Amino acid sequence: MNNQLDALEEILLMGPGPSCVPPQVYTALSKPTIGHLDPQFIGIMDKIKSLLQGVMQTKNTLTIPMSGTGSSGMETCLVNLIEPGDKVLILINGVFGKRMEDLARRLGAQVDTLEFEWGTCVIPEQVKEQLGKKEYAIVAIVHAETSTGVCNPVEEISELLGEKESLFLVDAVTSLGGIPVKTDEWKVDAMFSGTQKCLSCPPGLAPVSFSAAAVDKIKARKTKVPNWYLDLTMIINYWEGSQRAYHHTAPINMLYGLYQALYNLMAEGLETVFDRHLDTHRALVSSLDSLGIKMLVDPDYRLPMLNAVIIPEGVDEARVRKQLLNEYKIEIGAGLGPLAGKIWRIGLMGHTARIENVERLTCALKKVLK
Ligand SMILES: *Cc1c(COP(=O)(O)O)cnc(C)c1O
Repeated sequence: MNNQLDALEEILLMGPGPSCVPPQVYTALSKPTIGHLDPQFIGIMDKIKSLLQGVMQTKNTLTIPMSGTGSSGMETCLVNLIEPGDKVLILINGVFGKRMEDLARRLGAQVDTLEFEWGTCVIPEQVKEQLGKKEYAIVAIVHAETSTGVCNPVEEISELLGEKESLFLVDAVTSLGGIPVKTDEWKVDAMFSGTQKCLSCPPGLAPVSFSAAAVDKIKARKTKVPNWYLDLTMIINYWEGSQRAYHHTAPINMLYGLYQALYNLMAEGLETVFDRHLDTHRALVSSLDSLGIKMLVDPDYRLPMLNAVIIPEGVDEARVRKQLLNEYKIEIGAGLGPLAGKIWRIGLMGHTARIENVERLTCALKKVLK
């Protein structure tokens, strides 16, 4: 019988995720599967929680990986924190802000949105004005908007929330592990991420972190969390305490992978990792510039790990991506929504963010564009 996996070719992943997986993480994934209530495994879970606290820069005790991709982290935050009728403000400048709006509406929240042009950042003055008009239970923002390459001013929005009662919810799927994510310093109440962006693990888990105020809101709910699988009031009993009650079977080997990825991050050092992302980003921008290719996003709020580059005039963008993939084994991403056909999205996430990868891509692009 023919096994299709035998023919699988390695691809240099330079799109919007998944990113390249380092060899130690592949090794971790193939360790023996043990029981999800085995004391050895509980020990690994406890270490994952403390490593996550380190990477997320938080002391929040409720800091755990959810079973599911980044979107399950988003859904965990919203489904646990929103009760029907809650006033929610969502700041939108790309696909993922839109996704939060969709989710919040499905949960029966009274949703207001402030929308900003794709490729530009959320403007704090406009948020300030809106916050002056109305009290919100939750204010949500995407830190690194992967659809556009924009870094939103999370810290400034946090300052605007100051003494207000609103819970601050941040999508850190693409930012975590690539640029500083200061959960406690920025007074973030609910934060979620994913494993396949800058954490350099395959997709499948969604780290989340909740502040004491967020946990209080969950405990004070008048209605049950409307999603059984993501109900933190039950999941906490598996991740915390002495009893460790079964909720659902933890994805054991994926958690080994996350453990190793977080271990790698802490061993390299967060600052070194952030510098590596910035250095490779700068190298990419300058190499592209020498090919006459310009960036979409203003340098003041450009993300290092997701580079939105303007497709040169007259170029068949799909052909270029196809040729990069087929002939050079490199994947880059297409534009989404209003930016479809206008940009490519070049990822420098986690293990992908290395100079040799920038060189390999720019070399290939040069030939393909000729
Ligand atoms: C990738 C991404 C998500 C969704 O994560 P999935 O793993 O695709 O479910 C959410 N938000 C942002 C900013 C992302 O980049």
